[in-house]
Amino acid sequence: MFEKIEKFDKIRVWKGEKTGWHRYTYGIAGEMFFRKLMEKKFVAGKCPECERLFIPPRIYCEDCFVEIKEFVEIKELPRVYSFTFLFKDLEDNLLKEPEIVVFLKWDNIEGGLIHRLKEVNIEDVNFGLVVEPVFKEKPEGNINDILYWRPKK
Ligand SMILES: [Zn+2]
Repeated sequence: MFEKIEKFDKIRVWKGEKTGWHRYTYGIAGEMFFRKLMEKKFVAGKCPECERLFIPPRIYCEDCFVEIKEFVEIKELPRVYSFTFLFKDLEDNLLKEPEIVVFLKWDNIEGGLIHRLKEVNIEDVNFGLVVEPVFKEKPEGNINDILYWRPKK
């Protein structure tokens, strides 16, 4: 049975210093993705059988049951596939301005990324909006190397 959570403070969370307990590796495909992200590039894994592309990349195609060893750089920009507005933080405090969380998909690529959208008026957020990443100055090889996305200029 699942209980409906009505207050975020009812969810148990660990706060404070990192304990090291939650470290995990990205795996081969994930590591490739984050290495390229440090160069401000996006790579997709390409299935040798069906030739479908995957972002984030994966090391096997679940339809063809074959290993994916080819990774290709994706130069096109993704589009907003889905979005939501957050008005409160995890402690139930009202945010000064709502945070926009988007699910981004690239045309003809499986998968996608969940991230933040900024530099946009709320009324301009829509499905299909083409967005570009704003990168951190000194990338560290994780998803926050992208500070946020904004509408393509
Ligand atoms: Zn395949």
